[in-house]
Amino acid sequence: MPDVFADLVGQDEAVAELRRAAGAAAAVLRAGAADRAPALVAAGPASEAASEAGDTEPGVLDPSTGMTHAWIFTGPPGSGRSVAARAFAAALQCTYGTGCGECPGCHTTMGGTNADVRMVVPEGLSIGVGEMRALVLRAASTPSGGRWQVVVIEDADRLTEAAGNALLKAIEEPPPRTVFLLCAPSTHPDDISVTIRSRCRVVPLRQPPAAAVAEVLVRRDGIAPDVAQWAAAAAQGHVGRARRLARDPEARKRREAVLAVPRRLTGVGAAFDAASALIEAAEAEAEASVSEADATERAALETALGAGGTGRGAAGAMRGAAGQLKELEKRQKSRATRAQRDALDRALVDLAGFYRDALTMALRAPVDPVHTDTAALAGAGAQKWDAEGSLRRLEAVLACRAAIEANVKPRIAVEAMMLALWKG
Ligand SMILES: [Zn+2]
Repeated sequence: MPDVFADLVGQDEAVAELRRAAGAAAAVLRAGAADRAPALVAAGPASEAASEAGDTEPGVLDPSTGMTHAWIFTGPPGSGRSVAARAFAAALQCTYGTGCGECPGCHTTMGGTNADVRMVVPEGLSIGVGEMRALVLRAASTPSGGRWQVVVIEDADRLTEAAGNALLKAIEEPPPRTVFLLCAPSTHPDDISVTIRSRCRVVPLRQPPAAAVAEVLVRRDGIAPDVAQWAAAAAQGHVGRARRLARDPEARKRREAVLAVPRRLTGVGAAFDAASALIEAAEAEAEASVSEADATERAALETALGAGGTGRGAAGAMRGAAGQLKELEKRQKSRATRAQRDALDRALVDLAGFYRDALTMALRAPVDPVHTDTAALAGAGAQKWDAEGSLRRLEAVLACRAAIEANVKPRIAVEAMMLALWKG
């Protein structure tokens, strides 16, 4: 297994900072071990008295060093926010260095089995307060491996307000050995509350260059270099999407259908047809991505509840089970909605890439096209629409994304966009 940061593509500055922090964290642990009372006892009354007296506890985090209790990883989708958070978690659990990739701490963290690392992945549209309270409580316990309790919250922008407050409390008075790693698109107040932001150190990730993405696809996934280069450019810096495009023929087909939209817009009827096709394709993609997980979860729950039992007490057990099944269905429905939105958003990003290509060609800007395979079509559009017409179309796609983000019904937003694209 290579170094834990190896898959963090094109983020040299962030990796350097995280390594420094992991080194500082290890020094804190060593200081704690050298002293008779490591930080693990900091929650006891004696140490409270000590900190009130202003003594510096040996082995306790001092935010003025390279390490601190709360971090936010920001960057555009696909830039590797959760990859960075997981790698940093591994570096904190690393026995030999700052993320060697060889020791049990690195191995278990990267494999998702380390008892002191929790990855919180929201299944639905938001992370609720109940889930967050339970998490904060467990995060306060003593790390079983003697290092750090690490809580990674992917999509921290999906915290409900109440959940955010529960988290804030934990971040304001962090247990001595607990580290929170948050991932969010940006530090805009819409994504993360100002008060949480003010308690965290921010690690900005950038959109990785296509060449760096292609390199990792070749090295790690064994994808042919020409396919990797094409996929990296088409995915616009989104590493996971580039891998799917390179490997999954269905994903390529869906992308082709999206990029066929501009030439299909020949009238009002065609615009509405295109809108329906786009929505249905997003639904199909979402269905494919969640149906397997849904069935597995339901089967697991039914087995756990002893469905089909006929013995005494089975009827009572089934009444309780009905409630749990209902709860599961609710969660799955909310996950399906999220998956549909994500799929539709990816389609809109592809479409935006096409009009961006037309715009840069109309302006004769010296940049490579996003979609090399539809570059000729974008070139024809550039001639017909000129820069202004291309820009108006690009703006129509971006307005559609913004409308859906603001909870406009997707079908309505997409129909409005298609009409705008047709009219120009
Ligand atoms: Zn290690």
